[in-house]
Amino acid sequence: MINSDCIFCRIANKELQANLVAESEHAIAFWDISPRQPIHILVIPKAHHKNIAELTQNSPDQLLDLMKLGTDIAQDKSSGSFRLSFNTGEEAGQTVFHAHGHITSRTPKDQVA
Ligand code: 5GP
Ligand code: ZN
Repeated sequence: MINSDCIFCRIANKELQANLVAESEHAIAFWDISPRQPIHILVIPKAHHKNIAELTQNSPDQLLDLMKLGTDIAQDKSSGSFRLSFNTGEEAGQTVFHAHGHITSRTPKDQVA
């Protein structure tokens, strides 16, 4: 399901521009507009789920696909040391209520000594 009021639905639907990294059957990844680390990429389900708990509950197949895309990108872009994190709920810092994982790393692969 696509929610036209949701910016991440609009990015997944290619109505809004984003710096895309990769996509799979059920997920799409793009650079965060305001990166907090040298690597900061978001990975989202193409369908609208408000957070990772809802995605897990409703669509485990989509969750698996998203985790595979996220970890493949993290290993491809980083030194191998990375975080894949899901802020869930306002108190935890979630500001966009379409499930998304933050792939962050301090060390891009091409900067490993
Ligand atoms: P949250 O705080 O919900 O865990 O993360 C939302 C993230 O989405 C933030 O890191 C923010 O910078 C990013 N973001 C918000 N709007 C846009 C946008 O329109 N395009 C992109 N690429 N990132 C966005
Ligand atoms: Zn959405």
